[in-house]
Amino acid sequence: MIEITFLGTGAALPMPGGTNASYFVRLGSENLLIDTGPAILQQLDAAGISPREISHIFFTHRHGDHVLGFPMLMMWYMLNPTASIQTPVLIGGNTTLDALEQLFLHVYGPEVADFITSAPRMNLPEDAPGQARIHPHIMLRTLPMKHAPHAPALGLRIDTRGERLDLHTLAFTGDTAPCENIVTLARGADLLVHESTWSADLDPQLIGTAGHSTAQEAGRNAAAAGVARLALTHISHRYASRESTLLDEARREFAGPVCIPTSRTVLTV
Ligand SMILES: [Zn+2]
Ligand SMILES: [Zn+2]
Repeated sequence: MIEITFLGTGAALPMPGGTNASYFVRLGSENLLIDTGPAILQQLDAAGISPREISHIFFTHRHGDHVLGFPMLMMWYMLNPTASIQTPVLIGGNTTLDALEQLFLHVYGPEVADFITSAPRMNLPEDAPGQARIHPHIMLRTLPMKHAPHAPALGLRIDTRGERLDLHTLAFTGDTAPCENIVTLARGADLLVHESTWSADLDPQLIGTAGHSTAQEAGRNAAAAGVARLALTHISHRYASRESTLLDEARREFAGPVCIPTSRTVLTV
């Protein structure tokens, strides 16, 4: 069984009481954190998850709502150096990981350079398909998304197969405008976590803007990819108390189950 804990599901400016999009995925012996927004330590604490449980961290892209908690999370490992706590393997696009290293050095200085430069890294291409095997039975695959020139963004597909892990597929778009790679990324997935920053019904003027998608487009992609279930995430603060509209427009396009998780929602596949 794979368990996904939604640590937050807000866009850059989350709704009142919400936090930025981040997910903790339990994959048997490995535990993958996806993105580290500004409040990541508080988000983990609120969900009862210790940083010591994280074996790998995947970064979708370098925008602040996805990485500004990175130095604080790394500080946790730096201040808790015991043999039983390993620094997680950092996984992401080449320039994203370089930017994160620079971010850490900017805020904590060259005296901690050894710590951050020795952190284990798995670099992925940002303009081509990538893959990283984090366990004999767990493969991460990435495809470039369409978001912002300054911040190359990767969508993530997790495939599991093996003696102790059943065959499962999860897909996470990260931040992206509609693009063909989303359907390729998510084809046949048990769960697609699709960004839905905008509502096509409430704000048709925002369709195709700012490198983001609508809930309607998320529904269309879920249907085209033939996924089993759709979760909408990275919701703009402008839709506080109007989440039902986003669900409705996704459900018009996709016949399967659709939900909008909130902080600490747990889904299993
Ligand atoms: Zn974002
Ligand atoms: Zn972004």
